[in-house]
Amino acid sequence: MLDVQKIKADFPILGRRVNEHDLVYLDNAATTQKPLQVLNAVDDYYKTCNANVHRGSHTLADEATSLYEKSRETVARFLGAQKSEEIIFVRNTTEAINLVAYAYAQKHLQTGDEILLGIWEHHSNLVPWQQVCLKTGARLVYMYPTKEGLFDFNAYKAKLNKRTKLVAATQASNVLGTIFPVTEIVSEAKKFGAVTVIDGAQSTPHMSVNVKSMGCDFFAFSGHKMLAPMGIGALYVKLDMLDKLDPFMTGGAMILEVDEQNATWENPPYKFEAGTPNVSGAVGLARAIQYLQEIGMGNIRNHEIEVTKYALEFFNKARIAAPALNILGPIDPTQRTGLISFYYNGLHPHDVSAILDQQGVAIRSGFHCAMPLHLKLGIGPTCRASWYLYNDKKDIDALMEGVLEASRLLL
Ligand code: PMP
Repeated sequence: MLDVQKIKADFPILGRRVNEHDLVYLDNAATTQKPLQVLNAVDDYYKTCNANVHRGSHTLADEATSLYEKSRETVARFLGAQKSEEIIFVRNTTEAINLVAYAYAQKHLQTGDEILLGIWEHHSNLVPWQQVCLKTGARLVYMYPTKEGLFDFNAYKAKLNKRTKLVAATQASNVLGTIFPVTEIVSEAKKFGAVTVIDGAQSTPHMSVNVKSMGCDFFAFSGHKMLAPMGIGALYVKLDMLDKLDPFMTGGAMILEVDEQNATWENPPYKFEAGTPNVSGAVGLARAIQYLQEIGMGNIRNHEIEVTKYALEFFNKARIAAPALNILGPIDPTQRTGLISFYYNGLHPHDVSAILDQQGVAIRSGFHCAMPLHLKLGIGPTCRASWYLYNDKKDIDALMEGVLEASRLLL
């Protein structure tokens, strides 16, 4: 069991009052709060050895470069990558997936090819593929969830074929909460020689990830959803794919030699990191990973299953009292991450979240950057409450009060 009170004490912002209530932060799928350990690591970096990396020949530049590269090694170990050059620092998951779309897919796909993806994908793992199709003549083929919000393996197998050149799959949905069987998804895709891109934005913060055993070609995640600062994330590129990618952006730091007309590229990962990188962000990300690992990814996952189970029980009871209440996603807490999307027939989710905000409870409302899923389900925008290692059942109690209050006041 996690010592949630002890963990909470590491997060100064969680001591805030909002609308005369103690803040209950349940918008972790959007971004997480940052512990003192991460804030101090970033602060220390700027106070003691800030310099530009890879280019100076002075002590501070060497120290900054060494911290930056150590952070890359930390990320590589955390993801189970074989080598640290498989890790490219980017701003976030969106940039990571765009890098694959521009540097790999636009180069290798052509008319007649297919990209297979879930209707539940976040826009970041959907719109870049639409753009690839517009530019190459390839087309998108969608997978749809089962009624329960689970992966339909038979439908997936039926849609895979020799035209499938790329499978883009999220490991955990930011709306349904569903955890998808990415290892099996990858191994089926491999039978047809398709390249696999895994969106780890909602999984990496919450469970152990191992890209090597998963077997994927690309894996993307954002630091800000796992206690690290905003503006830092990473793309894992399997070693044997690295030389199949063109540079995404060109300029300083990624070149070997330049003459008047031409340039040659540095080796990966530098080939993909043009310009001054976010060194303090990388340092913060490495510290966030250390923080999570000290607690243990398995412990975090178990804690979240417990909280999710509690929340699901509440929603199931509440639906008897308030039949207009609906929830999305699987009923089994072990098949989902720590979030629940819900809506009341006849109520706008912004009104529900405004009532919760009055009680100090922060949730998200809208389409959660997954409009095609909402359209497919035939529903409007929804509310989403999402928890993390510093949330406990008391936070869910506060959520419950607000959800029921909304139905009392508005329905
Ligand atoms: N994919 C999923 C599943 C997400 O939940 C998000 C963030 N909501 C993203 C991608 C995009 O992450 P970012 O905004 O950090 O690029």
